[in-house]
Amino acid sequence: MGEAQKTIIITGASRGIGAATALMAAREGYAVCVNYRRNRDAAEGVVQQIASGGGRAIAIAANVANERDVAGMFDQVAGEFGPVGALVNNAGVLGTQSTFSGISVDRFRRILETNVIGAFICAKEAVRRMSRSNGGDGGSIVNVSSLAARSGAPFEYVDYAASKGALDSMTAGLAREVAPEGIRVNLVRPGFIYTGMHADGGEPGRVDRLVSTIPLQRGGEPDDVARAILWLVSDKATYAVGASIDVTGGV
Ligand code: NAP
Repeated sequence: MGEAQKTIIITGASRGIGAATALMAAREGYAVCVNYRRNRDAAEGVVQQIASGGGRAIAIAANVANERDVAGMFDQVAGEFGPVGALVNNAGVLGTQSTFSGISVDRFRRILETNVIGAFICAKEAVRRMSRSNGGDGGSIVNVSSLAARSGAPFEYVDYAASKGALDSMTAGLAREVAPEGIRVNLVRPGFIYTGMHADGGEPGRVDRLVSTIPLQRGGEPDDVARAILWLVSDKATYAVGASIDVTGGV
């Protein structure tokens, strides 16, 4: 991505992996959209941290699963910082640990709505604006999948795992479809990372419980994942198309 295009939207950047990626991107010279859904204080906190380090950032509330919210977010970012050159589809949700048959149909819909449809809507909006045949300058999209796409997360959240599997397939297809438009689409699969997400699954100490199963013998830090995401976004990865990087400590 050229200097002129160093504008990045990171969905779900108020906390966890998204926040770490936003802070790192700003240090690398990107103007950053810190997207969030509800947690305004946390998102504004990330923006303040970026600003105090001399970087440029804006916090925008948008439900990734809402087409109008997403279009408005892209418009606002383009107005503030110029054309969006990169999108990180990071926003994701999971439910409480459960067997598959114990999960409600409402929850199936809620998980797939954010994790799959949300990522699809954001990618669609990015492709429309970045495509050279539409007058765009190309760009880069990174989808944040999960180790769960491989493991299936039995007895925990098969619905969540399957939503990440959908991102793996979307990456494979979209990457090949839009490469001729100058858009690179790639994917990162984090393993067990220290964030607040595990509390949402009902087990805040989940990463520590699983450390002994990780060949590297430690849980992952959000920065471990952010580095891989930003490498794929960057011009250092110019020939990576439809690639996936597992950031799992060897699991
Ligand atoms: P997290 O700490 O729970 O943060 C989730 C973020 O997503 C928050 O910023 C939240 O915003 C936002 N969000 C949720 N629903 C949204 C929506 N509909 N629209 C816009 N934003 C929304 O999560 P994390 O652990 O950093 O995970 C980030 C990504 O990595 C997710 O896709 C997750 O599946 C994936 N991942 C995580 C792990 C792990 O071990 N942590 C492992 C593998 C993959 P609010 O603050 O406003 O709610």
